[in-house]
Parts: sequence; C-alpha cells; structure tokens
Amino acid sequence: MSDRFQAVLISRNDKEPQTVDFVEMTEDELMNGDVTVAVEATTVNYKDGLAITGKSPVIRRFPMIPGIDFAGTVTRSDHPDWQEGDKVILNGWGVGETHYGAYAGRARVSGDWLVSLPEGMSVENAMAVGTAGYTAMLCVMALERHGITPDRGPVIVTGASGGVGSVAVSLLSELGYEVTASTGRTTEEAYLKELGADEIISREELSGPARPLGKQRWAGGIDAVGSHTLANVLSMTCYGGAVAACGLAQGVDLPASVAPFILRGVSLLGIDSVMAPRQLRVEAWDRIAEQLDHKKLSALSRTIAFSDVIQAAEDIIAGRVRGRLVVSMHEET
Ligand code: NDP
Repeated sequence: MSDRFQAVLISRNDKEPQTVDFVEMTEDELMNGDVTVAVEATTVNYKDGLAITGKSPVIRRFPMIPGIDFAGTVTRSDHPDWQEGDKVILNGWGVGETHYGAYAGRARVSGDWLVSLPEGMSVENAMAVGTAGYTAMLCVMALERHGITPDRGPVIVTGASGGVGSVAVSLLSELGYEVTASTGRTTEEAYLKELGADEIISREELSGPARPLGKQRWAGGIDAVGSHTLANVLSMTCYGGAVAACGLAQGVDLPASVAPFILRGVSLLGIDSVMAPRQLRVEAWDRIAEQLDHKKLSALSRTIAFSDVIQAAEDIIAGRVRGRLVVSMHEET
C-alpha cells in the first residue's frame, strides 16, 4: 500500500502572508513523534478557522498542517501505552499550531498526547464532539467543582448555536440544569430548544458595555464569546455563582469591573483545553461518552468531505456554521 496521503498545507512566502493548498505527502515528511495514526475523522473548530483564514496568528511555525483534533487508528507505535490498531483521540497540545496537525491522512504525534476512544464511541461521533465539545465538558466540570448544581438556578450559555455552545446546552440539559441560551441567530430557537434550552435570549442583550452589577439572573455561565458579553454575564451572575470562560468570538478583551467578584463573590473560571492534563481529558471524554445524548449529538453535527475543509474554515469564522462539523477522511459526502 502506498504511504502517500493528502494533506492541507499552510505556507508562507515573500509575496503573501500565507497560502493554503491541498498537497500530497508521505510519512517521511511528518514531524517527530512516537505514534503514527491513520486519521479517520477530524473537524473544523473556530481555531482551525482562524488558522486557515490567517485571521489570528494561530500558526506559529510554517509550513504547517492545520487541524487541532482528530480520531483514528494507531498504525505504528514506539510508545508503551499504544499499539497498532488502537483507536485514539487527540485534542490540542499545539497540534495544528506548532506540530503538524489533523488535516492529513496520517499524523505523527507524541503518545503522551493521545487518549483512548471511549468504548462504544465511533471516530465520527468523537469528532462531532471534537475540541469544542470536550471544552464544553471541561466547562461543565469546572462549574460542578465550584458547587454549581442544578438546584442553584439557571445557567447561561453564550454563543449557544456554535460548537462549544451547542454541546454545552445539550450536556447541561442532560444533567438537569435549567439552561438559558444566548444567540445572535434567533432563527435557531427550535434547534436550541431541541438541544434542551429552556429559554433563548438575544445576544444583543449581552453584547453592549456592562454595568458593574446587573440584576442577578444566573447561578452560572459557560461563555464562548468573551469581551462585553462575558462582562455582562459576570455582572448578572447570582451571589456565589461562577462563570467558565473559554472563548473569544466577540473579542479577547474583558471590559468588566471587579464588582461581581468583590460584592457578590462571583468566580471567573478559566478553561484551557490545549494543555489540560491527561487525567482531566480522560475524565471529560468518559463523561461525554456516558452523558451526551446520541440523538442530540446527531442533531448538532453534520459531516463534510475533506475536500470541503478550507471552505468550512471560512464559514465558521463568518458565523455560518451551526453546531459541529465532522470531516470524514473516508468518504466524499
Ligand atoms: P463557533 O464559531 O462554532 O461558535 C462561536 C459562536 O459565538 C457563534 O456560533 C456565535 O453564536 C457566537 N458569536 C460569534 N461571533 C460573535 C460576536 N461577535 N458576538 C457575540 N457572539 C458571537 O466556535 P466554537 O464553538 O468552536 O468556539 C467558540 C469559542 O471558544 C472560540 O472563541 C474558540 O476559540 C474558543 N475555544 C476555546 C477553547 C479553549 O481551550 N479555551 C477550546 C475550544 C474553543 P450564536 O450564533 O449562537 O450567537
């Protein structure tokens, strides 16, 4: 069997900041690592969109194969934890940023970065969850650690019809929370209700400058948006509540006051999926496998072909993607 495979390669030259092309590669051209994986499914996350469009400096080494997450089968391993045939998932660790990433038929990575595909989960379902969904679970776990249980009151999810948001709404609702979904796409009301949202509010309610303290509305929040939206969520979080912040779709700034922290004991919980320790990842993926409803996962994801990945990256940055995109490496869809 030929070891040639298709890959997306982002390069730089003197004339253009970056070019993005489909190229043919061989395993010899991959970067160092002790495990080689046949990539069977990947996905398009917001960060992949930033990398491919060049809108933010996600890529820190050129040329680079983008793609921050994949699921597939180990084809070769010099790592004690992995053998040929093992089904694995990778999220983050700089893959698709400093180390050749997921948008290729093969990936060579450190075995320390991999987790096992949970029993009973397909590679496609793992990527329907992807880094966005695994991050949503990290946010839920952070709220739980802070004691935000369903009886404390409603939890708000911002950027609700995006990837992190859609999975967060689904998970919180499965766990018995009352969920408020904030979205700029009011046409997605039926979709968000199907995922388990109890109330839908317009993103405009939260996108302007925040007052130091607002009416106490939510026990907790999962924020994929940042900027004024996060400031407003903090100002409207109930006494002793907490907000898990993971995203920057509105902006990387945080124009907030300390009033919610010092007058209401509100906590801001930072969530990073890229360098999250292995134990946390394994726990997150096990819980996703157990607790994320399969019907909801189907409702929030759709599959595209590998050849459509560059267009999809542009679409996610333009806010045209609902929920999650799975990129199948097997078939033209
Ligand atoms: P998506 O593009 O799928 O979702 C982002 C959502 O944010 C959009 O669907 C939209 O939701 C909302 N949104 C977009 N632009 C604006 C705006 N200007 N103002 C307010 N809301 C806006 O991306 P993902 O779900 O994949 O990622 C969400 C965020 O989380 C990104 O910033 C990403 O970088 C970050 N992230 C961080 C991780 C970490 O480790 N901390 C890991 C994974 C993601 P709607 O249409 O419903 O309003």
